Amino acid sequence: MRATIDLSLCQGYGNCVSAAPEYFDLDDSGQAVLLKVEAATPAEQDRVREAIPLCPVGAIRLEG
Ligand code: SF4
Repeated sequence: MRATIDLSLCQGYGNCVSAAPEYFDLDDSGQAVLLKVEAATPAEQDRVREAIPLCPVGAIRLEG
């Protein structure tokens, strides 16, 4: 399972980083970046799914 971030929407709130810090981070410009391509473990996938509704601008999508 992998996620994508629409950087045209991301405002750097960091909710995704709080929800799944092993998968999301903020770069120097304050926008979200993915730390890995795939969320591998079930626990990690759960945290990525939890991050999606926490993004105030709906920038995170799941792919596959
Ligand atoms: S929660 Fe959404 S707006 Fe905030 S850093 Fe993550 S992707 Fe960007």
